Amino acid sequence: MSDDVPLPEVNIGMVGHVDHGKTTLVAALSGVWTDRHSEELKRGISIKLGYADATFRKCPRCEGTEAYMVEKVCPKHGVETDILRTVSFVDSPGHETLMATMLSGAALMDGAVLVIAANEKCPRPQTKEHLMALEIIGVDRIVIVQNKIDIVSKERVVENYQEIKEFVKGTIAENAPIIPVSAQQRVNIDALIEVIEETIPTPERDLDSPPLMYVARSFDVNKPGTDPEKLVGGVLGGSLSRGRLRVGDEIEVRPGIKDERGNYNPIHSEVVSIMASGRQIDEATPGGLIGVATKLDPFLTKADGLVGNVVGHPDKLPDVLFDFTMDVHLLERVVGAEEELRVEKIKMNEPLMLAVGTSITLGVVTSARDDVVEVKLKRPVCAEKGSKVAISRRVGSRWRLIGAGTLI
Ligand code: GDP
Ligand code: MG
Repeated sequence: MSDDVPLPEVNIGMVGHVDHGKTTLVAALSGVWTDRHSEELKRGISIKLGYADATFRKCPRCEGTEAYMVEKVCPKHGVETDILRTVSFVDSPGHETLMATMLSGAALMDGAVLVIAANEKCPRPQTKEHLMALEIIGVDRIVIVQNKIDIVSKERVVENYQEIKEFVKGTIAENAPIIPVSAQQRVNIDALIEVIEETIPTPERDLDSPPLMYVARSFDVNKPGTDPEKLVGGVLGGSLSRGRLRVGDEIEVRPGIKDERGNYNPIHSEVVSIMASGRQIDEATPGGLIGVATKLDPFLTKADGLVGNVVGHPDKLPDVLFDFTMDVHLLERVVGAEEELRVEKIKMNEPLMLAVGTSITLGVVTSARDDVVEVKLKRPVCAEKGSKVAISRRVGSRWRLIGAGTLI
């Protein structure tokens, strides 16, 4: 992205069932294909969270919806367009086996676009599961896209619209606008931008508290065989939920790493540089995904080794929890599978998959009284009271979403 556009100020999730067009829509909105991973390209699904930034613009000469675009120069009037804002899209994988990745990405989302292909009956299992995940995590600014309208009849578009209305009844997306588009043919992208601008405003940010960054990716950017003197430190990718992080800041990463005795130790380092939208910046604020270069041993950060950690100033982060108690609200039915079983109560000693922030951890139930459940974690989390927890249970061979928890 070039230097003359503002940095992203809001993170918008792209969610929905596999193959419904999320990655194509991100490309239509930003000109960037988020499936960069080579294996990902092979499998054709977004394995790791991909992201891309888009600058929304408005033509001063066009009237109404037509004025919304991403082009720098209006193709119709040939005049320079006015910048509205830059947004970061977090593209989720839609395959059922990748639900954990979607949940960990949901922690970064300020709003979401739920993509539903009009050529399939709605809801498909992950359409439902992703919407439920948004509801559990509290992402309530939602725009629904009815995609692939280029390959269905007008009648089918209307029928599918009714299926969607029926499906969202009683959910947080009940009043979400529904925009028919063709991501591939770039039809109605202007209307989608207009509606995103209205429905997903940039949230008010807390810039005065100490910074808190959720780590969603981590990398070793050194090429194999690099001279030891030329090695650069580990890179942490994620988003700030509050505060400001600056180059030169001392940082702590919690819960950190496990030692031989099984204890977790926070790690300390320094911010060497910060990348946002392909640019070096001196200070990062919430909104947009950033890459933070540190002095950490790249061995720690390679292959997403530090995903699920939080980063902040030393001693200014929430506590590391090895067990916690949560207020639980169970869903009526298990979502995500074709067959929707009833959700049974949580039982003692039951293993649960818990998503807290970008962290996914296994917890074993040590006490279960009605709505209050205590768990002992296999891997600790750094989280504060009031944090949302997405709770999954093993059903058959998969983890399925069964409810929402709040840390108490
Ligand atoms: P994702 O799994 O939700 O990210 O879906 P992709 O963006 O990878 O799209 C899945 C397939 O649907 C690809 O072959 C796309 O080319 C195709 N596709 C996406 N959007 C449209 C559309 O608007 N119209 C048509 N005809 N095909 C589309
Ligand atoms: Mg995709």
